Parts: sequence; C-alpha cells; structure tokens
Amino acid sequence: MRIAVLAERGAGESRVALTPETAKKFIALGADVAVEEGAGVSASITDEAYRDAGAEVAAAAKVVEGADIVLGVQAPDVALLAGAKPGAWVAATFDPFREKARVEAYAKEGLEALSMEFMPRITRAQSMDVLSSQSNLAGYKAVLAAANVYGRAFPMMMTAAGTVQAAKVFVMGVGVAGLQAIATAKRLGAQVSATDVRSATKEQIQSLGAKPVFVEEVAGIEGEGSGGYATEMSEEYQQAQAKLVSEHIAKQDIVITTALIPGRDAPRLISDAQIASMKPGSVIFDLAVAQGGNVEGSQPDQTVEKHGVQIIGYSNTAGHLAADASALFARNLYNFLSAFWDSEAGKPVLDEEIGDAVRLTQGGKVVNERLSTQ
Ligand code: NAD
Repeated sequence: MRIAVLAERGAGESRVALTPETAKKFIALGADVAVEEGAGVSASITDEAYRDAGAEVAAAAKVVEGADIVLGVQAPDVALLAGAKPGAWVAATFDPFREKARVEAYAKEGLEALSMEFMPRITRAQSMDVLSSQSNLAGYKAVLAAANVYGRAFPMMMTAAGTVQAAKVFVMGVGVAGLQAIATAKRLGAQVSATDVRSATKEQIQSLGAKPVFVEEVAGIEGEGSGGYATEMSEEYQQAQAKLVSEHIAKQDIVITTALIPGRDAPRLISDAQIASMKPGSVIFDLAVAQGGNVEGSQPDQTVEKHGVQIIGYSNTAGHLAADASALFARNLYNFLSAFWDSEAGKPVLDEEIGDAVRLTQGGKVVNERLSTQ
C-alpha cells in the first residue's frame, strides 16, 4: 500500500495533506508513504521532518509512481496522477458542485475520487470532517483579520486619558466558523450578537455569552436543519431578514458573515445600502467570499472600501493558518482511512454509509447521488 502526497499547486494554497505525525501513523499501519519535495514548506514542515518520520521524499512523478492512494488538500490535476495504480483512490477536497469538469476527468482516468467535503455529518465521522476543522480556524482568523484592520480597540478600556468603548461585533451564520468567530470576539472583549436561520443556534449563541438576533415574524429552519445544513430561504423570510439586518447593522462596528448553503452560491445577506448605513471605520469580513459572497461588492483577497467601510475576505481563510490547518486536515484524512483499515487486506475498505457518501467516481463513471440529482 503506497500513499502519495504532492505539493499543492492551487493558487495561494499553503496547506499540505500530510504531516510527519500522520506519516508515522500511516507507516505504523503498514503503508509506505511518499511526499513530494518541498510539499510542507509553506506549512513550516521541512523535507527532513518527513524523512525523519520514515517517509520517502522525492520529485512528483516518483512519488506518484505506483501509488494506491493519493492524499491532497485540493484534488490534484489528473495529469499529475498518470503513474498511479489503475483505480487509485484520491482523498482530497474536490469542490464537486463547481468543479464538474475535474470530477469528469477523474472518472475518465478510472481514478476513485473521494471528496472530503461530502463526509456525512454523523457522530462517528466528526473526526474525519475537513469542513469543520478548517471552518473553525477560519472563524478565528476572520475575527483577527477584521480586528487588525479596525482602527479602534475591541475591549473596553478605562484609562487615565478616558474610556475606550468595546467594539460591537455581529456574526451572521452560526455554524462551526460562526461559533468560533463569536468565541474569539468575546475573548477579545467585544460585545457580540449573532444570527442564523436555524433555530438550534439560538441556544448556542447564548451559551457563548452573545446576544441572539433572530427573525421572529417568519419561521426559519426548525432545529439543526437537514444534516445540519441550511437551505435557501423563502422570499418572505429574506425580506424579514433584510429588515432585521438593516435595523441592527447600523449600530455595529464589525460584521463577520459565514453563511453557506451546500451546492449553491452563498446567500446575499448585506446589500450596498446596508453597508452605507454603517459608521465610517467599520469592518466587514466576508468568510463566504470564495462561494460568491454574503456581502455586496466583496472581492476575494482584496480590501474593498465602500461608504467608509472596509470589506475584506480571503479566498482561503484556513490557509492563513497553514501549520494548524494542515495538522488538522492531515489528521482528518488519517482518521478517515485508519477507521476503515483492514489489517488482513493491508488497505482501507470503506463501508456503504461513508464510502457511498464521499465517493464521486469509480469504474470510469461519476457515481455520487448528490451530483446526479443536482
Ligand atoms: P455551513 O458552513 O454550511 O453554514 C454556515 C452557517 O450559515 C450555518 O449555521 C447556516 O445555518 C447559516 N446560514 C445559511 N444561510 C443563512 C442565511 N440566509 N442567514 C443566516 N445564516 C445562514 O454550516 P457548518 O458550519 O458546516 O455547520 C452547520 C451545522 O452542522 C452546525 O450545527 C454544526 O454543529 C453541524 N455539524 C455537525 C457535524 C457532525 O455531526 N459530524 C460536523 C460539522 C458540522
């Protein structure tokens, strides 16, 4: 069983899918591990550290030669996988709804694409869930990035020269990233409020000591929503939400938006008119900027100033914490493959519940239900 890991080639991608820690653990399971030279550099991992862990470090073509499994943060271009074994598995993020051509290309090459974004939200898969591990770090970084641009302090300070008021932070979308954003803003001393469409989040917001701000006149999504995910809301709800946001946002200093809907563009939550109602010097961080954005006018990796408000958003927020993001991503992949390791066969054998959920291609075809029903 040969496990291969290439350096990431996506623009601005700083993470790596294997760490010396997970290399050691795969080797302990009986696998051979090979890593491309320099693959860990942007995540502060040297080739030496991989070698010390027992991995082979070589050029890309050599690493992939005869591989049974290839690990990636972002799925590599199929051209790089030419030397892998027929039917090799590739476990990585595929962005399957947007990158249909890539999924087709994997099918055509007879590769088995395992999309980590499609990991089901069930208890036993929590430790394998890259969306959670990366969103948590992204929520933290979004608050720090906003605080860095904000020309005032977060905590209230009583000084001899007078009092500095606490910043007011509003978090829109309270999934994994939103919860960490609330916790981080609280730790920095801000006054925090938050909103979501799923009613289960109300208690979670309160338990972090923040104030829930919810649409009351139109029903949102009961409980957690289907599989923990939100769906697109009715026109009526959207109008009520826009009204609520308009009333609240003018009083906020920092807004962090995190709202996502799987398989669709991110919902638009803040309009240009609402930005205009905010005080000059306010900051918005749009965590959904790479999925179309929650905020009108936000641009990936740019600071856009509108009506005196700075709007920021990274195309790859977790990548701004490359070392921790890689460590958690690599553990997610190890937890996934090791949970299914068949010691007699010397390789992982997936079960139906998780295997069918994550498998995009097999035997030359696209086989995932979620892609055929889109
Ligand atoms: P997500 O990234 O899909 O979306 C972020 C948040 O935006 C969600 O809370 C969503 O409800 C919200 N949102 C969507 N549309 C909105 C709108 N129009 N206005 C306001 N908010 C909107 O969500 P996520 O971070 O992946 O997590 C969602 C849920 O799934 C959480 O409850 C989380 O605890 C749960 N979860 C469970 C597992 C597991 O059991 N294995 C793993 C991960 C997450």
